[in-house]
Amino acid sequence: MRELLRKIRATGRVAEPPPERPRDETPAEVLDKARELGGSVQIRHVDAGSCNGCEIEIASAFGPVYDAERYGARLVASPRHADALVVTGPVTRNMRMALRRTYEAVPEPRLVVALGDCARNCGVFAEAYGVEGAVSDVVPVDVEVAGCPPAPEAIVAALRGLTGR
Ligand code: SF4
Repeated sequence: MRELLRKIRATGRVAEPPPERPRDETPAEVLDKARELGGSVQIRHVDAGSCNGCEIEIASAFGPVYDAERYGARLVASPRHADALVVTGPVTRNMRMALRRTYEAVPEPRLVVALGDCARNCGVFAEAYGVEGAVSDVVPVDVEVAGCPPAPEAIVAALRGLTGR
């Protein structure tokens, strides 16, 4: 144990130095909602039918290199503890009701981020048998993050738009 603590102290901080604050492209009405959250956004992630590519990039965004938590964004386990949903994948038929219920469990003012091309417009799964539609067909979407999958930098930039940090 002592050896481990010594190693932690010797390693120090491994995250990349924080980049310049990205140019704010968050719509004004979303910023109004986000301001009520005071610079700290708790996020519940919902995989509505993703191939898991987006999840790998989310894991990177919250890992030690990109470290989204230092900008006030944090993943939580329950929608009842969340301020925002980050939804990945097209919404499959089996996930439509679950997504709707998860959205309704998030207290106001709730925000929804559609992360990845599948979440925005069904992407490569458009018109597939089991796909109900894009995220905006099931719940209101505030912010979209483009890419298949989006790079961790783009994910962190979108979350910084919500935290304002
Ligand atoms: S946007 Fe690309 S990486 Fe993300 S779920 Fe769709 S196919 Fe997978």
